[in-house]
Amino acid sequence: MKKEVTVHDKTFELYISAEKIQERVDEIGKAISAEFKGRNPLFVSILNGSFVFTADIMRACDLECEVSFVKLSSYEGTQTTGKIKTLIGLDNNIAGREVIILEDIVDTGNTLTHFLEILDTYDPKSVTLVSLLTKPEVLKDRVKVDQIGFEIPNKFVIGYGLDYDGLARNLKDIYQLKEG
Ligand code: 5GP
Repeated sequence: MKKEVTVHDKTFELYISAEKIQERVDEIGKAISAEFKGRNPLFVSILNGSFVFTADIMRACDLECEVSFVKLSSYEGTQTTGKIKTLIGLDNNIAGREVIILEDIVDTGNTLTHFLEILDTYDPKSVTLVSLLTKPEVLKDRVKVDQIGFEIPNKFVIGYGLDYDGLARNLKDIYQLKEG
């Protein structure tokens, strides 16, 4: 694995190795399996960033489950825009289902708050939030995330599904923006 990568105009340094990510994903998968066994939960994966995490979490789970992909984005470049775009997907029958939302990263929580409002109108039986990463300094108590992979400082990260202007989603490890 590389210690540093350059994407577009910026340099990023290794932050969480693929091995560490996998260990944590396995732990979360086991916890989900224990809690939801026999309840056929519906994973709702928020694209684009969550596709890698979703594939790994599903394979770390030993239970009957389904998946649906939705798209809702509020991010451009390395600064959150605060502008919420439209939601696509959510075609499965949500009513009465135990929904597990899979997010790559929760930053301000704006995306999730907006998504939860929409999801509520579909009348799910329960909603559980799982995010690989959260930035507690920014999020504060706005949204309660039930399962968190790693709590990270307020720095821009890429890799493992996360992009910088479209690139770097294919990196196996997670990299953090290098200051200065
Ligand atoms: P929020 O609405 O919580 O502020 O932002 C959530 C979305 O912003 C995430 O799903 C992700 O797409 C993007 N995002 C937030 N922080 C980062 C980051 O550090 N790196 C990348 N690549 N995307 C981020």
